[in-house]
Amino acid sequence: MADFHKADIEKLIDGVLPWPATQDMLKSPKDTNRFDKYVEIMQDRVDFDDPILLPLTPHLFIVASKKEGRIVKCKCGHSFGDYRINWKLSALINVRDDEKSMSEIYRGREMPDPAWIQLREYICGGCGAQLEVEAVPRGCPPDFDFLPDLDTFYGQWLGRPLPDKVAFEDKTLEHVKEWSE
Ligand SMILES: [Zn+2]
Repeated sequence: MADFHKADIEKLIDGVLPWPATQDMLKSPKDTNRFDKYVEIMQDRVDFDDPILLPLTPHLFIVASKKEGRIVKCKCGHSFGDYRINWKLSALINVRDDEKSMSEIYRGREMPDPAWIQLREYICGGCGAQLEVEAVPRGCPPDFDFLPDLDTFYGQWLGRPLPDKVAFEDKTLEHVKEWSE
């Protein structure tokens, strides 16, 4: 079983590992503790102390907050609330849905028809980082990219169940309903 150094995994994350070494790492069976090493590296890079349960993107993490439970946090520490609610609903959103704004991104025929398609840029309200971009038909709800079953992952895959247990369910619609109450 390959056991790569943390420093090499950091280089892989940053895209600065030389190509032969990258190939070697990609082809080798994953070290059993690769997930833990990855989380450890990311934990050193974020501006908060809450333990990371699962990295979602290079900027977003599900963390175990003592006060708020399992929530999504940006690298900068900005909270997006319960991880079972699509974090995009708590982001700042810039929508490009006309020719003028879309032509800043696309040229000529590459541009989707603004009568059909919207570009939504999701931005962190804490640090201003662009977290995600989606091109979707008008009226389409924000795509919920990933709702992981954390209790199964920690209990059955990593063999160390999390101390708390929460219902595994998408709470996005429930959250949206609260807006109209
Ligand atoms: Zn942020």
